[in-house]
Amino acid sequence: MKLILLGAPGAGKGTQAEILSERLNIPTISTGNIIREALKNGTEMGLKAKSFMDAGQLVPDDVVIGIIEERLAKDDCKNGFILDGFPRTVPQAEALDQMGIIIDKAIDIDVADEVIEKRLSGRRVCEKCGASYHIDNKPSAKGDLCEKCGGALVIRKDDRPETIKQRLSVYHEQTEPLEGYYKKAGKLYVVKGEGSVAEITAKVIEAVEA
Ligand code: AMP
Repeated sequence: MKLILLGAPGAGKGTQAEILSERLNIPTISTGNIIREALKNGTEMGLKAKSFMDAGQLVPDDVVIGIIEERLAKDDCKNGFILDGFPRTVPQAEALDQMGIIIDKAIDIDVADEVIEKRLSGRRVCEKCGASYHIDNKPSAKGDLCEKCGGALVIRKDDRPETIKQRLSVYHEQTEPLEGYYKKAGKLYVVKGEGSVAEITAKVIEAVEA
C-alpha cells in the first residue's frame, strides 16, 4: 500500500503515520524528519534547508524531490510506504508521478486553523529520535524525557507562535491545492482530524480499508 497523508502542519499526520506504519508493516517517510536529521549531522543539504525551515517556509522542491527519490529507492519501500509531509506542492506530486510511483490513496486529515495553532504550540519532540508528544493531549509518561529513548523533549524552532502562522499560510497557499490534485485522480479521502487520537485513527483506518 502506497499512502500519502495530507493535512496542515500539526494535523496529526505524524501520529497517524506511526500507527499505520505498525499496522501495515510498511515504513513511514517524513521529509521533515529526514531534513532535521541532516541538519543535526551538519550535512550540506541540512544546512541549505535550515533557513527555510526556521522561517516556516518550504524547502525548495528540487531538494526535497531529491531526498524522496533516494529514500523510496531503498529496499524497505518495496512493499509500500506512508508519506508524511511529502508532497507539499503540486510540482512535488507531479515529480512522484514522473518517478512512476503509483499512489493508492491520499488521506487528508482536516483540522481547523485555531485547533492547529493550539496543538503546535503544545507540541514537544524528542531531540534524539524525533518522537512527537503534546503537553495536554499526548504527554510523555517520563515527563520531559522521551518514553522511547530517554532523549530530552524540546520545542521545535518552527513551532514558535509567529512561525506557526507563517507555516499555516504556506500550507493554504502551496499545499492545499494537492487536495484538488488527488481528488481529480480519484484518490482523495478526507478525514476530520479533531477528537481523540483513537477516534481519528479509526476514521483513518476506515479510509485506508475503503
Ligand atoms: P514537518 O516536520 O513535516 O512539519 O516539516 C518541517 C519543515 O521541513 C517544513 O516547514 C519545511 O520547511 C520542511 N519540509 C518538510 N517536508 C517538505 C516538503 N515536502 N517540501 C518542502 N519543505 C518541506
